[in-house]
Amino acid sequence: MRLIVQKYGGTSVGTPDRICHVAQRILETHRQGCRVVAIVSAMAGVTDEFLRLAHAVSPQPTKRELDNLLATGEQGAAALTAMAVNALGGTAISMTGPQAGILTDHNHTRARISNVSPKQINDLLADDYIVIVAGFQGQTPEGETTTLGRGGSDLTAIALAGALNADVCQIFTDVDGVFTCDPRIVKEAEKLDEVAYDELLEMAGSGAKVMQSRAVEFAKKFGVEFEVRSSFKPDAGTVTREETPSMEDIVVRGISIDRHQAKLSIAGVHDKPGIAARIFSDIGAAHIIVDMIVQNASIDGTTDISFTIHEDELENARTILMPVLGQLGGKRLNTASGVAKLSIVGIGMRSHSGVAARMFECLGRAGINIQMVSTSEIKIAVIIDENEAERAARLIHSEFGLGRLLPVAAATHSLA
Ligand code: ASP
Ligand code: MG
Repeated sequence: MRLIVQKYGGTSVGTPDRICHVAQRILETHRQGCRVVAIVSAMAGVTDEFLRLAHAVSPQPTKRELDNLLATGEQGAAALTAMAVNALGGTAISMTGPQAGILTDHNHTRARISNVSPKQINDLLADDYIVIVAGFQGQTPEGETTTLGRGGSDLTAIALAGALNADVCQIFTDVDGVFTCDPRIVKEAEKLDEVAYDELLEMAGSGAKVMQSRAVEFAKKFGVEFEVRSSFKPDAGTVTREETPSMEDIVVRGISIDRHQAKLSIAGVHDKPGIAARIFSDIGAAHIIVDMIVQNASIDGTTDISFTIHEDELENARTILMPVLGQLGGKRLNTASGVAKLSIVGIGMRSHSGVAARMFECLGRAGINIQMVSTSEIKIAVIIDENEAERAARLIHSEFGLGRLLPVAAATHSLA
């Protein structure tokens, strides 16, 4: 018998009606002759509300207690889902993460899964139960409840699919799958049939959030294929898997936009060892996340260092850097908010040249100025004016034939 792991996110179980709808889907799968393990998130808004309450009673809630509180959100949703399945004539049982055998380290609120021993689940499946598991949680070897970081039910689902050696892992959510670009921005954007782990990870790091990144990393490490699909529609979604040679035929799989970025440039810093370390350790100590970093070639013993952060952190970063500017030899600190990062991602970039040139030409023709560039083996990202970001995305989307997903061989452009 096939074993299917399904995960339903907070929106999918957001109301009693929706829970009943989810119960129906689970039952349909079971009636098709499959064994089913379903992982559920807390009902939409519940985790945020718990966090609000915690901060209302304590300026710095104890992390252990936060975990005890937050874990109940998923436990409630799991129990409700099991009740709904039973009311429809099925036989379901709900379990907490610890009961499901999810073992973690001691890092409260951001615990890592160290082991999964799903013996109890296997026993229940053998007795033909539908098993509903509370996502986002586990326990330490000492039996303390932990949670897996925001969006952590995705991780529960991937880890259980791996440990149970499931035939299929489906992540049901409020979007239809992974798209070539956000369809609200580019109307021609199309749902992808498949995407490689690395592509999804780069797209998530560039603003397109469909899955918790830790869950995708885990899936990649253990080779767990999963499908992201809509819980409101019957249609197939996007399968994420290890790359295959044919996947390289598509140069650009997707485009993502990261808004609300800010750019900082320190002009004329000493070009000597330790300066960059100093700048970024000060910034890092303030827990500011740095994204792109660019250092210029040095002229006369000085250089410019530029980097981007979230625009909410801009004042914070200025306050840190202004007083030490002199010690760095810096002449000026220039800052600009209202910029966005636009990224194109595709494993096809490894084997095709001229991709950056084509992207830059496209932006150049449209009069869109590129302020910074960074690349990885499978990504090219540019910083541009935030007001131009959507237009740029549309132009690049059509430049690379996205939404029509032509293999390069059939594309009319020759790659420089
Ligand atoms: N309920 C948790 C959150 O909101 C976990 C999840 O939804 O996956 O982050
Ligand atoms: Mg979620």
